[in-house]
Order: sequence, then C-alpha cells, then structure tokens
Amino acid sequence: MARYTESACRLCRREGEKLFLKGSRCYSGKCAVSRRSYAPGQHGQAQMRRKMSEYGIQMREKQKTKRFYGVLEKQFHKTFQTAERMQGKTGENLLSLLERRYDNVVYRMGLASSRSEARQLVLHGHYTVNGNKANIPSMFLNAGDEVAVAEGSRDSAKFKDMEAGRTVPHWLNVNMEQLKGTVVSLPGREDIDLEVKERLIVELYSK
Ligand code: SF4
Repeated sequence: MARYTESACRLCRREGEKLFLKGSRCYSGKCAVSRRSYAPGQHGQAQMRRKMSEYGIQMREKQKTKRFYGVLEKQFHKTFQTAERMQGKTGENLLSLLERRYDNVVYRMGLASSRSEARQLVLHGHYTVNGNKANIPSMFLNAGDEVAVAEGSRDSAKFKDMEAGRTVPHWLNVNMEQLKGTVVSLPGREDIDLEVKERLIVELYSK
C-alpha cells in the first residue's frame, strides 16, 4: 500500500501547524511544531516569510487536508469526485467523506492512537464492522455502523492497555470497556476540527 514516507513531524512543520500524526507525542512538549514553528530544511525560515500566490495557498490547503487524513493524491481526488456528485456543498461533502473513512473513525473512537496506526491495524484485520471482518481503511462508514475490536485481538497488549481519554465527537458513541463504538450520525462541517478553507480546495480542482 502506498503511504507517506516523509517524517510525520516534517509534514506538520511544512504546513505550519499540528496535524496530530503521531499519537500521544503530539500532545506533549516534544511536538516538533511547538519547538520549531517553521518549515523544515535549510531555507525553512525564509519560506515562511515568503508571500504565497493564490495557487500556492489553494495547494497548501489541499496538502494539509490530505496529510491530516493520511490520504494520497489519487484517492483524495477520487473522494473529491464523489463529493462533487453529492448534493450540497462539495467542500463540506469532501470533509464529511474523509471523516467517515473507516481508519479515521477507528482513530476518532480512540481505538488507535493515530490515523496511521488505525490504518495499519485495520489492514491487519484487528476490527470488525457490524460483526463482519473488514480491512479496507478507505471505506466510508454510515450512520448505524458498529466498529469493534475483533474477538481474536482483544487480548493483545495493544488493546488491553487502551484507555478512554480522547474526546470523542458527538457523531460517534464509544464503549471503551467493550472496545467498540457506533456511528450515531454523519459528521457535518461543524463536527470537523481541521482548520481548513475547503472552498480553496474546490477552487483548485475546478481550474
Ligand atoms: Fe505533528 Fe504530532 Fe509531530 Fe507535533 S508531534 S509535529 S503534531 S506529528
């Protein structure tokens, strides 16, 4: 499976904000964005001062969103095309679809420490959806779907030590004791904590 190979913290520093790609480290004083709030590389500090073109700003919004959800270009564009075919605003549909990805839902439920870990665990078959084996991280979940840690994985140290703690968005309902959760409703724009101007992504793809 294709994936980002650049260091997660470099991706955050390039976007100039925390994208929460590394689990608990992101909430600690070790976060690279907190320590060095400029782009990586020799000319990083100069880059931050440079005025960006309109295209550059649109591109950055797209890159930030892709990296936040850990989605590569081809799949991101496919999701955008799906969002375009839906009723309503394309930008909001795009964000809602990205939130509804199986790997993101696992992360949001607190059943994995980061989206990349969620993706790995999904691929390795550690969860079920509605009681059935499901190992495709990109599939979209719907209201009423139940995600649970698979029976055979519950005794592994990873899940035994898992504790409630992360704030779970209100469109999800989680029972950490039973290591499962349900999608209560579909996420709207107001439920998504990523600071992005999705309109700029729509403008970029409309060129
Ligand atoms: Fe990003 Fe987390 Fe690294 Fe901070 S610790 S730079 S939020 S991946």
